[in-house]
Amino acid sequence: MRVEIVPCLKDNYAYLLVDETRRTAAIVDPSEEAPVTAAAAAHGLEITAIACTHHHWDHVGGIEDLLKRHPGIPVYGFVSDRGRIPGQTHFLEDGATLELAGATAAILHIPGHTLGAIAYHFAQDAAVFTGDTLFLSGCGRMFEGDPEMMSGSLARLARLPPDTRVYCGHEYTASNLRFARHLEPDEPAIAARIVEVEATRSAGGPTVPGRLSDELATNPFLRPQSKAIRRALGLSDAASVAEVFGAARKAKDDFKG
Ligand code: ZN
Ligand code: FE
Repeated sequence: MRVEIVPCLKDNYAYLLVDETRRTAAIVDPSEEAPVTAAAAAHGLEITAIACTHHHWDHVGGIEDLLKRHPGIPVYGFVSDRGRIPGQTHFLEDGATLELAGATAAILHIPGHTLGAIAYHFAQDAAVFTGDTLFLSGCGRMFEGDPEMMSGSLARLARLPPDTRVYCGHEYTASNLRFARHLEPDEPAIAARIVEVEATRSAGGPTVPGRLSDELATNPFLRPQSKAIRRALGLSDAASVAEVFGAARKAKDDFKG
């Protein structure tokens, strides 16, 4: 499965999942219609499905206009997002599988950013679309969940195969890494990643996709056992994963880096 990155709005990413044989594509999280239509046309692809990770406007804002151009195509989202995702036709449950762009996706319910947040995991293609739950070197804000819920969702993503490519909803990697370094100033993997990401960004490129193995090494929200993180947050080794997550998320919300 080929993936085309479609930058939208200020720092959002939509993704075209390409079925090379049929010259069709599924679009993940279309924030806007125009850039998606332009990207599909540039690659000679017909859009035949829409897949949403969650209901926020900057992930579903382009659906209505896309449906005008492609009436009747399926719109996938979590079962509890009924009424919150425009044009939704398929109401997915945790563990469901579906075919998108000739590949097979498994649905992982990963609540916390929103209650209906899901990831699309393509095991065979070693790719996962995480929306605003897992970012590269960071995670989304906890709008609807609690620390227990969201840290559980992140732990679930962390258990996917380490070579999985992570496609997330926003280009926040550079600022996320500044917070990661603030918590773990002596972590060489974080320092190395900062150099890499700075080079990518100054060349105007996207940092997505990342590798889950790099996330496990640099993303503070996937490293709740790190002694340095616990020390930086003023927590002991006895603190639970949810407590560490809650403190880290709060510290990130307040971080001016
Ligand atoms: Zn969101
Ligand atoms: Fe978003």
